[in-house]
Amino acid sequence: MIRRTLMRRAYNSGNYSTARRHAQKLVHLPSEQQLAKSVIIRSYWNQQQYEEIVQLLQQWKDSELMPYLQKSIDQLLVLKAKGEEVSISLRGFQSKRHALLQKNQPIPVIEREWNKEKIIENFFQENQRIWFRFPQNYCYWDMPEDFNIEQVHPSLLGLVAELLLSPWHKEAKLQIQSPREKGSHPGLSFSAGTDSTAAYLVLPDDTILGYHERSFESQLKHDNAKKLINHLINVHDRKVFSIPSNHEIIRTYHDQSIGFSTDLACASHLILLADHLDLGGIAFGMPVDNSWLWKGRVFRNFENTPYFQYWRKRFSHAGLDLILPIAGVSEAGAMKICQQSELLPYLNSCMRKNGNGGCGECWKCFHKNGPLGRPFNFNAKEIQVFLNRKIIPTAMHALWAIDIMGLKNQAPLSIQELLENDFSWWDKVYPPSKEIIPSQWREHVWERICTYLEMMDAPYPLEMVNLYNERLQ
Ligand SMILES: [Zn+2]
Repeated sequence: MIRRTLMRRAYNSGNYSTARRHAQKLVHLPSEQQLAKSVIIRSYWNQQQYEEIVQLLQQWKDSELMPYLQKSIDQLLVLKAKGEEVSISLRGFQSKRHALLQKNQPIPVIEREWNKEKIIENFFQENQRIWFRFPQNYCYWDMPEDFNIEQVHPSLLGLVAELLLSPWHKEAKLQIQSPREKGSHPGLSFSAGTDSTAAYLVLPDDTILGYHERSFESQLKHDNAKKLINHLINVHDRKVFSIPSNHEIIRTYHDQSIGFSTDLACASHLILLADHLDLGGIAFGMPVDNSWLWKGRVFRNFENTPYFQYWRKRFSHAGLDLILPIAGVSEAGAMKICQQSELLPYLNSCMRKNGNGGCGECWKCFHKNGPLGRPFNFNAKEIQVFLNRKIIPTAMHALWAIDIMGLKNQAPLSIQELLENDFSWWDKVYPPSKEIIPSQWREHVWERICTYLEMMDAPYPLEMVNLYNERLQ
């Protein structure tokens, strides 16, 4: 009885671990079982320990608590889709969820067969909806009112087909259309996060923003993004197109989580709109962590990578410059750019909480919100698990975050040596990145970047980065 009171008291005052310790001692008593189980699951839920919930509820099959099983699986699938490691297998859950999602997608009024020989023939229009037939199903974009697919240059259609299908269908890569003439304005594939907002702030004022709006229900919420977008439209007087689309389902037919087929596929909507909006380039908010650094931890000569060489040429064939305005700026630098603008209150990278503020318990809250002075719990499970990994995700950025927040003494022993590095240069710009900005926009972008950030001094410390002594192929 006393234990029961202690358990309740601990739970109600938010001491979830203590509450769970009491509950675990009561869970074997038939009369206490129901309440104890409920406390265990709810306390794990409040601490965002979803893996434990899935494991326990699969054993218990407790009908009252079952909603927590589905909710936890959804949370874990979102984490996995974001590239975070999940320690339990979600395969079965994932394929069931995917089958349901695939079944619930709309189909066109007049159906078509997949055309393998002429890949661009798979695009067609019904009212304002642009359909794309792929081997297993259809996906779509809902375009602005006066959009007409007949007026879209074939090389734009070919590029979109390749971005969507090339990982699985080689034919999408081989069908090159006649070249398109370059348009006048830059477009920005805008996600409303820190990196793409930093890119927005350094691009010219005639840049047109395109927001990909996932059209089906998921854990990903658009509310925060919409707040920022409305602000840009109403206060900054900017053109922002939000295009609902479900093309992220293509990956689910290949046993992969919902998401973009290839990383540049996030701009499919803007590429389709390129003639309509007279675009001559597409910009992406790719920071140095993904360009000159491989996986945020080893230096590479990005300009010479087959990836950059190929896609620059491929985009240019479709009359589009591939613009990576912040490729020489780290995530820390991007944060610093946003910090100097009045847009900061509209930005929050935490995916766990909708609306105001972050959850304070996730990896994003640690490395994206923490350095901005926002509250987070350094001892939260996810943060500690990631910091204790053999290789820390987004390593340079995470180490910089610990350094700048003065948390070195509380960081795990295993990374103390890495923390002895100098991080003072990490929010500065890597000068050679200027050269990959297409000439038409280079001077403008560079001038803007220089108003926000300092340049790295030669010899550039970025070129020495190899945190775990890895050898790149
Ligand atoms: Zn969070």
